[in-house]
Amino acid sequence: MTSDPVSAAEFAGVDHVVVDIEGTTSASAFVFDVLFPYATERFPAWLDQHAGEADRERIVAEVASEAGLADPSTDAVVATLRAWVVEDRKATPLKELQGLIWEQGFSDSELVSDFFPDALVALRQWHEAGVPISVYSSGSVLAQRNWYAHSPEGDLTDWIAGHYDTANAGPKREAPSYHAIADAIGVDPSRLLFCSDVVAELDAAREAGWQVVRVRRPGEPHATEDSAYPEVAEMTDIRLA
Ligand SMILES: [Mg+2]
Repeated sequence: MTSDPVSAAEFAGVDHVVVDIEGTTSASAFVFDVLFPYATERFPAWLDQHAGEADRERIVAEVASEAGLADPSTDAVVATLRAWVVEDRKATPLKELQGLIWEQGFSDSELVSDFFPDALVALRQWHEAGVPISVYSSGSVLAQRNWYAHSPEGDLTDWIAGHYDTANAGPKREAPSYHAIADAIGVDPSRLLFCSDVVAELDAAREAGWQVVRVRRPGEPHATEDSAYPEVAEMTDIRLA
């Protein structure tokens, strides 16, 4: 298959590629229509089943602290978490709990992750060419690992050199997060390429000195935003020189 040269974007001097998940390698609709409801339905049962366990108690304490709950009963915590889901709040304890519930779903084979076909082709090509790939997503590191371990093409975890989330790197729309990731990877920011669908994230990465490419997929929620960044509709149109 030949691709339209007008749609391709070429990057030189890239030592490491960092990819977003939602809207970039994977359809946002899958996250909203499949994953979020899967976890949301299971908040009460999970909190009951894991009472007294360290992860569970820490998550409840963090929810209570962030929401100002005087009495963090299961009902109050579940109501808070469900309100955060509705407003798509990127709260760390919410992301952690979702990650734990999804991990169970993936290991029980109730869940299989979702990738755009071109994303799998591009990631495979980079991996086989020896280009290290990391993931930076607001989904937790645990959720990211499970995402790649339970793909439609099986376990792809050996394609991924590192995982970054809002807990170990920081918010996705702030430049210091991208400095932190560059430090962790050990590569100069100018030799990192960030692939994302969200212009504000690309702004932050660019401010930190990264190369950036916008993955602008028709129908994705952020596809209507304006930007001057190089962009592609499919990740196979990202060329590393
Ligand atoms: Mg995204």
